[in-house]
Amino acid sequence: MRMGMAGDVRVNGGFASCLLILLLFLSSEAVSDDDLFAPADGVTILSGNTSSSQRALSDRSHIWLVNFYSSWCGHCIRFAPLYKKLASAIKDWSGVVQLATLNCGARENLQTCTDYGITGYPTLRVLPAYSSKNATGDDYSGKREAVSSLENGIIQYLQKGESRLKQIPHLDPLSKLEDIWNDVGLHTKYTIVFFEEESSFLGRKVILDLSSRDDIVVRRMLENNAEKLGVKKFPSMYQINKSGTFDLLKSSISVHEQDLLSALSYSLRHEIAVKSSFSESSLEVLKGYIEVLSKYFPGSNNSTSVTFLHKLNSWLQAFKGDTLTSAMWLKGIQTLETEDAHIPETEVWVSCLGSKPGFRGYPCGMWLLFHTLTVRAADHSKDPAFKPKEVLTCMRSYIQEFFGCRECAKNFGKGAVYIEERVNTADDAILFLWRSHNKANFHLHGDETEDPAYPKIQFPSRESCPQCHLEKDGDEIKWDEGTVLTFLKTMFSHRMLRSAEKGVGLSGRIARLRDQELRTRVLASVNAGSMFSSLDVTSANSLNYCVAFSPVFEGFSLLTSLVMSYQ
Ligand SMILES: Cc1cc2nc3c(=O)[nH]c(=O)nc-3n(C[C@H](O)[C@H](O)[C@H](O)COP(=O)(O)OP(=O)(O)OC[C@H]3O[C@@H](n4cnc5c(N)ncnc54)[C@H](O)[C@@H]3O)c2cc1C
Repeated sequence: MRMGMAGDVRVNGGFASCLLILLLFLSSEAVSDDDLFAPADGVTILSGNTSSSQRALSDRSHIWLVNFYSSWCGHCIRFAPLYKKLASAIKDWSGVVQLATLNCGARENLQTCTDYGITGYPTLRVLPAYSSKNATGDDYSGKREAVSSLENGIIQYLQKGESRLKQIPHLDPLSKLEDIWNDVGLHTKYTIVFFEEESSFLGRKVILDLSSRDDIVVRRMLENNAEKLGVKKFPSMYQINKSGTFDLLKSSISVHEQDLLSALSYSLRHEIAVKSSFSESSLEVLKGYIEVLSKYFPGSNNSTSVTFLHKLNSWLQAFKGDTLTSAMWLKGIQTLETEDAHIPETEVWVSCLGSKPGFRGYPCGMWLLFHTLTVRAADHSKDPAFKPKEVLTCMRSYIQEFFGCRECAKNFGKGAVYIEERVNTADDAILFLWRSHNKANFHLHGDETEDPAYPKIQFPSRESCPQCHLEKDGDEIKWDEGTVLTFLKTMFSHRMLRSAEKGVGLSGRIARLRDQELRTRVLASVNAGSMFSSLDVTSANSLNYCVAFSPVFEGFSLLTSLVMSYQ
């Protein structure tokens, strides 16, 4: 049976040229040995005679989306990167849908394409689960201009009821909250409801993202029913308790190693390198900065970034020439970088990602970097050679000498004159920087540089650390500084850092995606998986989820990245 051809094969200039190329190809019997896809792209690459494709596609427990293309066709070449991104974005849906490709431009596949009735490229076909060998699939009729529209198209197909999946995740909304208990099984640990507007696809995507987890049940409920329950914010996610009560999954705060690495990369490759050459005094500042980084930058001794910093430190401390130029500095970095010792080439922001270009990013990363260094340094406070002021004086010098924002350097410098007088222990240093940062937050609250999605607050908020806040004295917050110290030591500890090492986990996967839309999409899909599995290992009775919305995704006007947790 064929679905409508809308959005699939269109008779236009591009299609006509693809047909022409096909005809030329047929007449000349040219052989295409290049290909647009590789196994690493996360798609099944079909090839050979018809029966081998039929064998691969038939009788599977999931549906297939197959891209019949020709490596000679311009449309196909342009579509291939999108298809690869789709494969990466819906990797966690593999129990429900998988992607395949067949290059009809290769001579050995020609008969197969004819047998499947392919007349133009690219043609997308959907094959239901448990298809027979003779099934040729339905033409995909959804939109295909972006990853999110392809995902929506797959969801629409699943909801039409023709997928023949034996175990299809429940994508339809609940009308009564208590119906969720019908889905709960022996292994269910978490029962979650996603409240959203009717037009939103996000809840269904989250359900599919988590479809392989039998310990999590996620259902969605639409705005009209949710409002009766007192839920007013959409989208939002709640954990449902057996008692029938439900708790909003709230913000939690964490530091992503990717942000620290991005700040480090920008600082070393750009900010420092802007100077054409370093005077004797700026060379001293640089040496101090790299030494502190090599001692306290988080990561195990064999992590690629720490190994690189150790090498860079040895190289710089051994530098005895009169003048270090920017070119020598960059060449030094390049020479020292190896597969086992390097830092990222470019910056990818995770928790420092602003809602629009120009917001957050590097200065946010630098704050996080220096807070982390003060906390990491405190782990070494028992060493006889430990110097409690070291990180802060290094930061002051770096900001004065290299930080691109000169106004910031001036403002920070005013407060930093008190380091000598007020910092005598590692804990003093942590709290000193926290106060300085809060002063900056106070002055910048409401400023035009403030990202409206991330208002500057006196940190930590009452919501994230109720015990840190004593009673308010007028406008001024009274802090329990002992509790604040514990909070900061936890937040910036190595244990809490979300790893980017070797691309493992959420931040690593995000880091590999250059496309912001997909990155924010992956934040929604991946973090749940990685956080849940790490929590399972420690048997912690807590739940984390991260959902991000970009301006281009689902029509939300602002990017708001919410890391939600329930404990
Ligand atoms: C040293 C320095 C001085 C600066 N001075 C100026 C200035 O004078 N004028 C100006 O316009 N901009 C200044 N900036 C930039 C500004 O402070 C912000 O970094 C920038 O506006 C981006 O803000 P953000 O919303 O990403 O949050 P940021 O203020 O950059 O904070 C990043 C993250 O740090 C955490 N955090 C927030 N407050 C604290 C705290 N008190 N203790 C511990 N963690 C905290 C939060 O998780 C937050 O998301 C300065 C930056 C630096 C690094």
